Amino acid sequence: MIIHVLLLTLLAPLLAACAGAQTPRSSAPSVIAQRPSVRAALDTLRVANAWTLEEQVSICEIPAPPFGEARRAEEFRRRLVALGLSDARIDAEGNVIARRRGVARHPTVVLSGHLDTVFPESTNVNVTRQGTLFKGPGIGDDCRGLAIVLAVARALASAGVQTQGDILFVGTVGEEGPGNLRGVRHLFTKEMRDSIDYFISVDGTGLGLTNRAVGSHRYRVFFEGPGGHSYGAFGMPNPAHALGRAIAGIAELRVPSDPKTTFSVGVLEGGTSVNSIPASVAMDVDLRSESPEALDSLDADFRVALQRALEAERARWPGSRVPLHLRIDTTGIRPAGAQPDTARIVRAGLDAARALGFTSELSSGSTDANLPMSLGVPAITIDGGGTGRGAHSLAEEYDDGERGWLGPQWAALIALSLAGVR
Ligand SMILES: [Zn+2]
Repeated sequence: MIIHVLLLTLLAPLLAACAGAQTPRSSAPSVIAQRPSVRAALDTLRVANAWTLEEQVSICEIPAPPFGEARRAEEFRRRLVALGLSDARIDAEGNVIARRRGVARHPTVVLSGHLDTVFPESTNVNVTRQGTLFKGPGIGDDCRGLAIVLAVARALASAGVQTQGDILFVGTVGEEGPGNLRGVRHLFTKEMRDSIDYFISVDGTGLGLTNRAVGSHRYRVFFEGPGGHSYGAFGMPNPAHALGRAIAGIAELRVPSDPKTTFSVGVLEGGTSVNSIPASVAMDVDLRSESPEALDSLDADFRVALQRALEAERARWPGSRVPLHLRIDTTGIRPAGAQPDTARIVRAGLDAARALGFTSELSSGSTDANLPMSLGVPAITIDGGGTGRGAHSLAEEYDDGERGWLGPQWAALIALSLAGVR
């Protein structure tokens, strides 16, 4: 009996080792964070924080207006190649894609930032620095995300982390309004269709996690007629008056507060002079909701309001034969979508945060992750650490604070827990 116990005691470590070799290792963030190679990668991200910040500044000083991201994209690609990702390439839409091979191809995990800004080509994009505070257009949104993609690629290489699945390091074009998600849409519907298992977008600053996608419908609405003299041609439908009626109708739309559903007329344009009935006037309208059904319902009500305005303005001048037209151009459709808080990618995000010693809050947003979410591909957007102010303004700021490196560490740990570490 004693011999048996002794034998078992001696054999126990061996048996445990055998069992460990057969069952897949846990990919929980708290567990893999303790693996030596992962530990080394996380340490690199903390120690090399200055490198990450230099990348963030220098990539940001290359202008990247909507549809003008090519120069920044080429430099981002060049940097990925320099980090050992020799196949880094630019796809037909302009996205940068670099594949880091795992043992198997799947799961394929995308870690992505967006290349574009909201600022026109002529914007001064110099970045200034005072201590940990950086000022410059786009410095947080989304030069922070791009720097994190580079920093994680570098840390995984230097620590020699071997993953089970592939990790794709990506810079997308067209995330901001005018781009209408053209980069990520191309990625998921053409370039990498059906081959991405998880999508992580790093966008902006803070330590929040977006797992619900606010959908939006954006339109430019025109009222048009022949135009004429304000005095001489009086008595015909006036496109500006029709637009006014339409705005009054939109202002009275009723929407639910839960799911949050919103509408706004953001831009007004048209007319040539005070003494002319305008030939054309236009407005930009933004409709949003977390719920696809609520968004569709709001969209239908919005169209009714436009049609009523058109008819009311025509009816106001029954004796006139002058035409009045309504035209609706679609300028952006971002699908709404949600995934449960218990989805694996969401839990990986929350658990990785906990493993790094902080708590992340879940929220909804409108980002590159909208597109994969609407297609049923697990996707989240995480903040890039630090704190930020004034996104989309010329006075944009990013403060790295004392623990800005938590952002890149978080991104790395989520990506590794989803890809699996050998
Ligand atoms: Zn952004």
